[in-house]
Amino acid sequence: MRELLFMEPCFKPMIWGGHKMREKYGYPIPCDETGEAWVVSGHQNGKSTVKGGSFDGWKLDELWSQHGELFGNPAEKDFPLLVKVIDANGDLSIQVHPDDAYAFAHENGSKGKTECWYILDCEEGADIIVGHHAQTKEELVQMIDEGKWDKLLNCFPIHKGDFFYIPSGTVHAIRRGTLILEIQQNSDVTYRLYDYGRLQNGKPRELHLDKSKDVIRCPHRNAATAGDWEKRDGYEMRRLAAGEYFTADQWKVKTALDLEQMQDFLIVDVTEGQGTVDGVAVRAGDHFIAPYQYGTLHVEGELEIITSYR
Ligand code: ZN
Repeated sequence: MRELLFMEPCFKPMIWGGHKMREKYGYPIPCDETGEAWVVSGHQNGKSTVKGGSFDGWKLDELWSQHGELFGNPAEKDFPLLVKVIDANGDLSIQVHPDDAYAFAHENGSKGKTECWYILDCEEGADIIVGHHAQTKEELVQMIDEGKWDKLLNCFPIHKGDFFYIPSGTVHAIRRGTLILEIQQNSDVTYRLYDYGRLQNGKPRELHLDKSKDVIRCPHRNAATAGDWEKRDGYEMRRLAAGEYFTADQWKVKTALDLEQMQDFLIVDVTEGQGTVDGVAVRAGDHFIAPYQYGTLHVEGELEIITSYR
């Protein structure tokens, strides 16, 4: 189909959320503690909706199950990816996600979660947690039980434009002052190790210490980083990630880019600037899907986009 499927996000209030998405993208967020926008999602816990065009008002999961031709007639029951914008006005809990096998066995047949982060924006001095310093499971368990978080966790400074690949089993936390684009497997399974003793509606949020200890990889291994920028006529591009669950690329368009859509479907996130795609105006904060056999996307303007596919 020669029509782009623009997505309307589903918003999630969170105790650590903020209101940057309204200021930066003009999103109609429901409150000043909006932590997440599920911008491309067919997940039952928060579905995005098609905005305009032939499928105006359709939820992505309905489109996936009833119009498989838009996605290359997929065999899977559910849309396999989930894209979020995350506004961390406070620190997110220290957490880890299981892999497919563990989630299937312990979480009602759920998928595991491998994710990746692109830093859309962050405050001066912002940092992030990825990985830990324990050499063995025993050491890990002991440090968790004794609450030695500063010693255990690997925390380091971040900058706008940084990229991180977070395979399942990697302990991590997004921290305050950070706006992130997250591309992940279609899963909502999170094991929380530590939540800074915070309360939500007067009660601490649930922790999942035993499951966390089960799934955290020991010792931590650093994942692959983004590839180098390649200069082309009219644009630059780099590969962000090419893993088992998704491939993601970043494109800095200076004048124009012809992007061939050769996948079952291609998710496009506009992260900076503005321009047009096949004559349709787009700007930062827009997210859309180019369906199966769409053909070539002709992108014009000065803008940055991130594309992903399964
Ligand atoms: Zn996570």
